[in-house]
Amino acid sequence: MSTPENAGDGTRCSHAGLPEAVPGQPFLPGPVFAAPYHLDPWQGPGATPNGYGRPDNPTRRLLEAAIGELEGGQVRVFASGQAAITGVLLTLLRPGDAVVLPSDGYYPMRAFATDTLAGIGVRVLFAPTAGPYPSFDGVRLVLLETPSNPGLDVADIAALSRDAHAAGALVAVDNTTATPLGQRPLDLGADLVVASGTKALTGHSDLLLGYVATRTPELLDPVTAWRTATGGVPGAFDAWLAHRSLATLDLRLARQSANAEALARLLADRPDVTGVRWPGLPGDPAYPVAAAQMRRLPGVLGFDLGDAERVARFLSASRLVAAATSFGGLHTSADRRAQWGDDTSPGFVRLSCGVEDTADLLADVTAALA
Ligand SMILES: *Cc1c(COP(=O)(O)O)cnc(C)c1O
Repeated sequence: MSTPENAGDGTRCSHAGLPEAVPGQPFLPGPVFAAPYHLDPWQGPGATPNGYGRPDNPTRRLLEAAIGELEGGQVRVFASGQAAITGVLLTLLRPGDAVVLPSDGYYPMRAFATDTLAGIGVRVLFAPTAGPYPSFDGVRLVLLETPSNPGLDVADIAALSRDAHAAGALVAVDNTTATPLGQRPLDLGADLVVASGTKALTGHSDLLLGYVATRTPELLDPVTAWRTATGGVPGAFDAWLAHRSLATLDLRLARQSANAEALARLLADRPDVTGVRWPGLPGDPAYPVAAAQMRRLPGVLGFDLGDAERVARFLSASRLVAAATSFGGLHTSADRRAQWGDDTSPGFVRLSCGVEDTADLLADVTAALA
């Protein structure tokens, strides 16, 4: 079904990737479970895209069409965000190439760069998301993560893409935290989007997913070949669950973002909470760029409770904030990042707002902090 031009986010999300209406058929066809498919004995695999499940699967294709509509590009989904990101890095980078990565970005991505990329002779440069950035001369790829996880700093995608392109570098943006409703990096000049669909995009804390989006066939083709060769594809059921979950993305983000704003304001006013970060707070260092660049703000915020013990007391006293990593789910959760070996301070908490009623969440957090 094609959505009207200029349709709103709710319309686009609920219709994204759905096939043409056929009487007697469901809105979203169920998952197609297949490793091999029947082949035409005479024509072989040329007669259908469905030959073998690693290169292709019809459930996956519908999900890719859906995310592609939202990001405004061609999409390949992967088994996880890490599979998508490491796939792009290993597809594009060769020994001797230089890559610029966020020094405050997703920790396992940075660990992969210093272990594996540096190990095969890629020159790995780090820059903080908020800048300053090094010269991009001689750089092959600039990976931005905005808003960054977990610090929630913001990078100016359009300005950095201009600088990178002037130096001959490609730009990829990790769009996990923003989601394609928060910003469309390809519209802002980026060459590639990489993301985890595990978080707010699918939002039910029940699957792992990653994707790559681009408008450039010369970039899509090697990423597709990489995925087929290495096999990091999501299963049909996860792809179907993800597609079903996309329909409510607009609704979920609206409540999560409203909850984050209310909670950020509440925490910023408390003398016993420090370092509150949410890019929608007018006093936040990321606010000016976020306000200009983002269509909506994430449901995630950061703050510091001083030490690990106070975080544990807060989490055990709260009735609505679950201790859990990841973010973007329906249920409010909080994570003390330092317990994972992240280079954050011991009392730093990344809190992900769920879809609970705002008043209930504020009351619960207030009681748990007391
Ligand atoms: C979670 C996350 C990833 C990795 O995604 P997985 O689906 O867990 O592999 C990458 N980038 C960011 C910003 C993330 O938050």
